[in-house]
Amino acid sequence: MKAQLVEKFRATYGRAPEICAYAPGRIEFIGNHTDYNGGTVLGAALDRGVWVALAGRADARRQWASDQRSTRVTSRAEDGAKRTGAESWVNYPLGVLAALPEFGVAAPAGFDFLAMSNLPSGAGLSSSAAIELASALAFLEMAGARLARETVVKIGRHAENHFVGVPCGILDQGVSGFGQKNKLVWIDCRGPIFAMVPLPAAAHFWIFNTHTKHALVDGLYAARHRECMTAAEALGVGLLVETNGAALTAAEANLAPESARRARHVVEEIARVAAARTALEGDDLVAVGRLLTASHRSSQLYFENSTAELDFLVDALVAAPQVFGARLTGGGFGGAVMALTSAAFGEIEAHAVAAAYREKFGATPEILHAQTGDGAALI
Ligand code: ADP
Ligand code: MG
Repeated sequence: MKAQLVEKFRATYGRAPEICAYAPGRIEFIGNHTDYNGGTVLGAALDRGVWVALAGRADARRQWASDQRSTRVTSRAEDGAKRTGAESWVNYPLGVLAALPEFGVAAPAGFDFLAMSNLPSGAGLSSSAAIELASALAFLEMAGARLARETVVKIGRHAENHFVGVPCGILDQGVSGFGQKNKLVWIDCRGPIFAMVPLPAAAHFWIFNTHTKHALVDGLYAARHRECMTAAEALGVGLLVETNGAALTAAEANLAPESARRARHVVEEIARVAAARTALEGDDLVAVGRLLTASHRSSQLYFENSTAELDFLVDALVAAPQVFGARLTGGGFGGAVMALTSAAFGEIEAHAVAAAYREKFGATPEILHAQTGDGAALI
């Protein structure tokens, strides 16, 4: 991909890039909306992501191109204002630049920028974190700053929280930054503390991207964030991670029903992450699969971040004997479903699920037999 990136940069800007970086997308394995509640998550970096190429300019002009966009965006270093409409994709790298001074690094002034991707965007596979981390590595290199991986992760999250305006936790950027092939990244989001959990060799991932995305998805994400904070407050804790199932049951009668449902999802999901880690370490994919499906049922029932399309895919997948478990992956409200399967699940089975989906919804989901991959790096 590096050769294609350099080639495309030359075709776009008429010269070679000086810096190239890559960051992967990720699967939220289990740990749905737990990160900003101070809980734990397990994610896997994919072998797909976003590449960024960069070359400095003597003037303060900034040019932004992406293989996903037909027109180039231009801006100037002194105007770092948020972009709107068709130019709003630039807010991800622009947000990284806005974050740099917070981390003691002066943002580079003028440059030519190109993004390339082989990751579906808006599917819940975190192309946003991938473009943020690849941009962060490239800009930091241009600024001559060498920062710890954890700081690069925090810069990406800062961009998404404070510039793009999505109050996401550390999951997306943490997994994109720390991922390793054949491993899951476990994150205790309060630290944050990162640890690697080996992925059993018999595990396979299949992703079904519905290409549905609720128009209000960012607003719904923010609403769930707010509802969790309201629930924590009603329970007398700072974050939902500080309570547990028994305390929640005891307090439930005094909570607004919506707060009780949101808290139930988060508290039980945090327990499922711990159980999934233990089951993975014991090579027990059947137990892991049950936890994944239980996570989805909780999304349906308590967190209300699933959709008819996602539910249909989960139901169709878990009916197949080669599937250990399935769940929505990412924030929800559309996007993708992930299935954990044995090697016996193949193209035939995947296409049967897709055909049943097409029958019902009149559209074909995109199928990815996803492989894990390594985390963000200069290339
Ligand atoms: P997800 O992170 O699940 O893919 P988001 O809505 O958080 O979904 O982020 C998707 C957005 O990230 C896109 O709409 C686009 O603005 C931006 N983006 C991601 N990858 C690229 C890319 N290669 N080129 C341009 N913009 C990108
Ligand atoms: Mg995202």
